[in-house]
Amino acid sequence: MTIQTIINKSLKRVELEGKLLTPDFYAEAFCIEANKAGMMVEDCHQVSKLSATLNKELQKELTQYRVKTMSEFARFLISKLNRMNPTTCSAMLESQNNLIKRVLQVVSVLHNREASELARKSIDMLSSTTSPVQIDQYRQLWVNFITTYDDSFLQKLKQFTDVDTTDLAKTISNINSEISVATGDNKVFDLTKISMLLVSSLVPSIASSVNDEIANLSEKIRTNPSLLESASIENEIRTAISLRIALDKKSVKEMIESLDGVLDKLSLRLIDIIESADSSNIEIKKIKKELESYNEESEVNFSSAHKKLYTIAVALEQNTQLLSIDLKKHSQEVELLGNKISKLEQELESVRQESKEDFLTKLYNKRALDEFFTMKDAEYERYGRNYSVVMFDLDHFKSVNDMYGHEAGDAVLTAFAAILKQEARSVDIVGRYGGEEFIAILSETDTQGGVVFAEKVRKYVQKARFMYKGKRIEVTVSSGVSERKKHVSLKALINSADEYLYKAKKDGRNRVAYK
Ligand code: GH3
Ligand code: MG
Ligand code: MG
Repeated sequence: MTIQTIINKSLKRVELEGKLLTPDFYAEAFCIEANKAGMMVEDCHQVSKLSATLNKELQKELTQYRVKTMSEFARFLISKLNRMNPTTCSAMLESQNNLIKRVLQVVSVLHNREASELARKSIDMLSSTTSPVQIDQYRQLWVNFITTYDDSFLQKLKQFTDVDTTDLAKTISNINSEISVATGDNKVFDLTKISMLLVSSLVPSIASSVNDEIANLSEKIRTNPSLLESASIENEIRTAISLRIALDKKSVKEMIESLDGVLDKLSLRLIDIIESADSSNIEIKKIKKELESYNEESEVNFSSAHKKLYTIAVALEQNTQLLSIDLKKHSQEVELLGNKISKLEQELESVRQESKEDFLTKLYNKRALDEFFTMKDAEYERYGRNYSVVMFDLDHFKSVNDMYGHEAGDAVLTAFAAILKQEARSVDIVGRYGGEEFIAILSETDTQGGVVFAEKVRKYVQKARFMYKGKRIEVTVSSGVSERKKHVSLKALINSADEYLYKAKKDGRNRVAYK
């Protein structure tokens, strides 16, 4: 086999193995082909010769990494000079990884939400199998965080205190010391305001007055707010607060006691009502017993007062319900009775309508008189039977009522009616026309006859002794007389009698007027 054939075979091998035709791959292929052809090529054994000169560990690594060519051998040696071996390298990587994780854990507990969240996510990412792409994404997120991180709030603090933007703890301690020594005007933390707040919180919220001790302390703080810096004031404030609470508690207790008193009275009153209602209702009796037992309780506290109030409210509610049922029942009864009364009234009215008798004097009433007038007028029209009308009216009757009373007036009216009846003939009709006005319809009588009758009555009345409860009442009567045939109609007759009566009054009363 010629050297040319070995060269060709070597080229083919490189091609078949899909390798690039680099000097290293070519040399490797040439050594294999030359060896196959039984040729000894110096260069092919250079690596094994040189490796034999190295220590055992390195020789092992050369086999492990399959270093065959001279250039591979050269790179192996260079890497040995620059780097550590892969074992040391992986240990290195692991400790670096741990360090990164530890740093991230520290960041995750720092007081920046964005940084701590990003740190936590980064730890998660590192704990699972990650790709370089992922690691790169997180690297970018950290870059973004640091470029947008805003510490300008620290600058704002500069207005009133020393700020070291690289040392937050120092800045905070500066702020604290500023607060404790603050006395100036341009400070944000103003002790005057804090002292006012403290003083107002010492005022009892329920009790009506402030205790002397509290008042003194309040005054001291109000006039000198810087006192708040002293250590001794703390105890004084504590004592004042306890006092304030005690005052409030005392007031509440007093209020409950007075409420309890009211409730006791109320429950007693309720018992009275229930007893006076004379109810046999079992429920009411039960409530009564409960209320009595509450009155016996000596202990005063809010829950007992509340319980009493509740029980009384329940009792009242039930009682009211019972009452309303009762009322409803009674109002129904009242309504029924009312209906009955109005029905009776209607009946009475119709009886009255039908009646012809005046209820007071028992003479004919106006209704009856009107009927008689119609009858007498028909007789006159038909048979020419003349008749006269005498219209009587008691004089100054109003003053009788005024002086002696209405009852006396009634008695006079009744007595006058009796006179009228007594003086009239059986064929004559006498009746009460209204109030203190009376009428006599005298059959077959002319004016003259009428006047005789009227005069008789007038005189009788004048002489009569009208007595009421031992007192004599002076009574006189005036009258007007007219006869039918001198008038065209019944209406004209009545008007005429009325006119003469008016004339009698006008002429001085106690007289008879006629034509
Ligand atoms: P005069 O002389 O002008 O008739 O005076 P008078 O007071 O009689 O007349 P007036 O019409 O002013 O008063 C009538 C009084 O008669 C007023 C009224 O109270 C009274 N009277 C009418 N009817 C009755 C009755 O039934 N009983 C009683 N007690 N008084 C009555
Ligand atoms: Mg009159
Ligand atoms: Mg009169």
